[in-house]
Amino acid sequence: MKLVHVVGARPNFIKIAPVWRAIASLTPFEQVMVHTGQHYDVNMSDVFFVDLGLPAPDHYLGVGSGTHAQQTAAVMVAFERVVQQLGPDLVLVYGDVNSTVAAALVCAKLLVPVAHVEAGLRSFDRTMPEEINRLLTDQIADWLFTPSPDGDENLLREGVAPGKIHRVGNVMIDSLVRLLQTASRSTVLSELGLEPEDYAVLTMHRPSNVDSEDALGDLLNTLIRLSERLPIIFPVHPRTWQRLETLGAGEARGQLRLIEPLSYVDFLGLMSQARIVLTDSGGIQEETSYLGIPCLTLRANTERPVTVEMGTNTLVGQDTGLLTSRFHAILDGDDSWDRRPPAGISLWDGHAAERIARIILETLGRE
Ligand code: UDP
Repeated sequence: MKLVHVVGARPNFIKIAPVWRAIASLTPFEQVMVHTGQHYDVNMSDVFFVDLGLPAPDHYLGVGSGTHAQQTAAVMVAFERVVQQLGPDLVLVYGDVNSTVAAALVCAKLLVPVAHVEAGLRSFDRTMPEEINRLLTDQIADWLFTPSPDGDENLLREGVAPGKIHRVGNVMIDSLVRLLQTASRSTVLSELGLEPEDYAVLTMHRPSNVDSEDALGDLLNTLIRLSERLPIIFPVHPRTWQRLETLGAGEARGQLRLIEPLSYVDFLGLMSQARIVLTDSGGIQEETSYLGIPCLTLRANTERPVTVEMGTNTLVGQDTGLLTSRFHAILDGDDSWDRRPPAGISLWDGHAAERIARIILETLGRE
């Protein structure tokens, strides 16, 4: 049996790592990794392979940047050749990026079974490119591995056959659990001259926040003001650097400190000791929930509602007044949950990938 994994962007690398390892140790199946090249900077791609102990990809498609149509089409054309050459028994796709939907669509047309890891998440906001990728991938995937009950409910409501849905938990948390100890030895805090719990961490790259000059300018002005109370460390996504440079805002201002994107271990080291996290990332909402760290999400909606139910995550959208008041309230001690991990979301326990490997073994092993 031959399994092909398709990855292309930063969050994909964090998700594939435990699945790759679990399949290698629990099944006799051959594995092949295809990297589409959607993210290609060293600090958005290569460093993750080192930190996560992943082998080099077997195939590199080199699609690079472009519009959504260019990127999706380039992955499809290049990946179709790889599938025809390899003849896989199953293809695994991850998360919600353009590479995810492109690879799934190729497989559906070539009648190759597809497994979607992190299926069923919905923001119900079709202006988000990721939401389109999630909806389409889940309609054509044959195996849907969900992280939380809301994922199952969304899929059932959309008419997905119950037999295709497997709730396995959160593979991103598997990586966190495995590397948290290593991250605690990272020197990132001393390199940045920081003390534990005496700074905030910010990440921001969604089009809704960075593509409009007005929205980005308003957010930056608010963040600079907030950083007067607590330094804010901002590892800047390449997409956001471009926008900041256009705005002439690519320099640190006040205590808002702009740095290059960090490797996974360094970012985990930084995030796990932060007093508060501000983000529009999907994965970071989950990681802060696991770590019990207050997170203010710079989005009006989330495809990860369990993080809000947990109490760690608050959606502030682009409401700078709400962002300001929640930021100060948290610093004044208004966080009522237990900061010690594990914060207790069912199946977010470090073993989701093993459950995936066992399900694949049981099903493909019978064939
Ligand atoms: N991350 C990282 N370095 C950074 C910023 C984020 O390793 O400088 C990690 C973070 O811990 C999380 C993932 O990257 O696991 C989130 O990726 P991103 O925000 O790009 O994607 P999203 O989760 O929004 O799909």
